Amino acid sequence: MEKRLIKKDVLAGIIGRIAGDMNLFAPVLDEDNVLFEPVKDGNTALANYKNTKNAPKAFFFPRSETLMRYARKEKGMEFAGLGEEAGQAVLFGVRPCDARSFALLDLLFDQEKYKDPYYIDKRGKTTVVAMSCTKPPYSTCFCTSVGGSPTSADGADILLTDLGDAYLAEFLTDKGAALLKYFGDVKADAAADKKKEEIAAASAGEIKTTIPAREIKAFLDANFEHPFWDTIHRKCLACGTCTFMCPTCHCFDIQDEVKGADGKRIRNWDSCMFPLFTKETSGHNPRPTQKERWRQRFMHKFRYYVDMFGPIACVGCGRCVMSCPVNIDIRKIAQDISKL
Ligand code: SF4
Ligand code: SF4
Repeated sequence: MEKRLIKKDVLAGIIGRIAGDMNLFAPVLDEDNVLFEPVKDGNTALANYKNTKNAPKAFFFPRSETLMRYARKEKGMEFAGLGEEAGQAVLFGVRPCDARSFALLDLLFDQEKYKDPYYIDKRGKTTVVAMSCTKPPYSTCFCTSVGGSPTSADGADILLTDLGDAYLAEFLTDKGAALLKYFGDVKADAAADKKKEEIAAASAGEIKTTIPAREIKAFLDANFEHPFWDTIHRKCLACGTCTFMCPTCHCFDIQDEVKGADGKRIRNWDSCMFPLFTKETSGHNPRPTQKERWRQRFMHKFRYYVDMFGPIACVGCGRCVMSCPVNIDIRKIAQDISKL
């Protein structure tokens, strides 16, 4: 693996040069929020930020995406193929929890049984440059409980770690190595590796929230009808915020919009928190109340995804904890289950 040392004062220039050659998105301050936005001038990209308000999953799984267009002709229908192809892009400054969410979504959208061409096209053409958390940004972070870490490289093509006076850049994949020319030629030495290891251990040690994410699996396997499921949903407003903010949630709905003879098929984000998500045409709803919907959300992350793919479908970013208007806390649910 190639490794480079980058002086701190040249990072903005590197971002600017990459942005001159291809689309680059980086965290920028937009009013009160830090968001991934297109960047041309490297000085507008934030080097010191906590995390972006929104999870970057929308780059590969957009909120609303046209899957195909069609038109009614005199004789039958004419199809205009799949949606628009993505261009080459760089996502710069993704936090390790969010980069890891890409690796988890890959398991679903790019698997043996099903390959999603829309997701795969964008994922394949985007280089993910992750930025280690040298200090966990929020008290709600719990990445270390769900298989990640503040310096995890999962899902990233390049990992940058702030060593104090310079960044260590690790080029993890071929896509990452293709950007080597922008990063200068100062090779990282063993001292840089050692410093990164120390920073990684210290940062992971500062994560104070732990949840028994793996330990509760046996309970989940055996207790679909447990009375506990009657307790967690009572405050829930069914607003869907937790699912829309979550980097790994991926419920969607497909609808056709037709105007005159022209139509398009669109995939939109949906949420298992909404009553309509599972309502059938007959009027029957197999998840009739918020109890069943919350049980589904929790089971999907900590039981079903584990059964299907191995990892837990939560990266411990804490966004759902911070964003829920009625303070429902997924960490507490896991902790409470472990005491049953
Ligand atoms: S469930 Fe919550 S903490 Fe876990 S990845 Fe989703 S938003 Fe982050
Ligand atoms: S954010 Fe909170 S209130 Fe809204 S659906 Fe999620 S758990 Fe319910």
